[in-house]
Amino acid sequence: MFEKLRSAISSLTDSISKSSLSEKDLDSLLWRFELGLLESDVSENVAKDLATKVKGRLLESKLDQGSDAENMLKDHLMKEIKGVFDIAGSVDIQSLVRSKKMTHEPFTIMFLGVNGTGKTTTLAKIAYLFKEQGFSVVLASGDTHRAGAIEQLSTHAERLNLKFVSQRYGADPAAVGRDAIAFARNHHVDVVLLDTAGRMQTSRNLMDEVTKIVRVVEPDLKIFVGDSLTGNDAISQATEFFASTEFDAAILTKVDADAKGGAALSIAYIAKKPIIYFGVGQEYDDLIAFEASAFINSLFSPRHEVAG
Ligand code: GDP
Repeated sequence: MFEKLRSAISSLTDSISKSSLSEKDLDSLLWRFELGLLESDVSENVAKDLATKVKGRLLESKLDQGSDAENMLKDHLMKEIKGVFDIAGSVDIQSLVRSKKMTHEPFTIMFLGVNGTGKTTTLAKIAYLFKEQGFSVVLASGDTHRAGAIEQLSTHAERLNLKFVSQRYGADPAAVGRDAIAFARNHHVDVVLLDTAGRMQTSRNLMDEVTKIVRVVEPDLKIFVGDSLTGNDAISQATEFFASTEFDAAILTKVDADAKGGAALSIAYIAKKPIIYFGVGQEYDDLIAFEASAFINSLFSPRHEVAG
């Protein structure tokens, strides 16, 4: 995973120890670093910001030649990347659900994202996780647009032996959400997981609809699901969805096949919201909790494998 981003970082840190650097050399080095970041799906503003901040720190701390310079650079870069994840904060969904359970009210999570990103699969993985931890769960099919979407979620509900709430195709997704919450209240269910139609971030009507669902359902948590393989597209989707919904956290899917790694960093930077899980396969347990420190370490050490 993330070979490209790791190599953008290591080629910068390697070259700094091998040359005696003037400010001009440093500029050209950082420019190559910025390009490496862009090739790793780090968005342009994030790449520029990181390079500028690292340069500022290096100039402040009077760069020397030699191995100290390499360590100093690594240290600065790590701090800057850590800063992005620190600002994004963290969300512990289990403890949020536990707190809400004490009030005898269901905890509602709404899943947002474009078709094909793995939203429904991820919802089912989260359902499995909660079930394993002893919470009761109802799945609600708020995707009343895409043919087959209701059956897809209902199949997950059957496999996982969970309750399932749906209406006909074309029904108001906000009403499905309300039904599911009422069902959960009446049956003392802890968690409602609401799927929504995958919409292109550029479709105004559909984005308006998602905003309406948020207003009517008032979910406790809104999770954006992005496909890490789509790189910059995932970043632009996150930007648009954030503008419409102010989601609380993000999950990146298909990280098992992602050789780049920049999407996580960019989404955390842009939305200032945490990545909470990585999807790493198609099975229910193919979900790893995102740990910023493990992710950063994996970028800086060639032999460090998993980022969660
Ligand atoms: P949706 O349209 O966003 O609801 O997407 P789906 O949940 O139907 O997923 C689309 C495809 O991506 C399916 O074939 C899933 O099995 C696959 N998928 C979802 N998450 C992952 C993941 O983390 N890794 C891999 N390799 N495939 C995934």
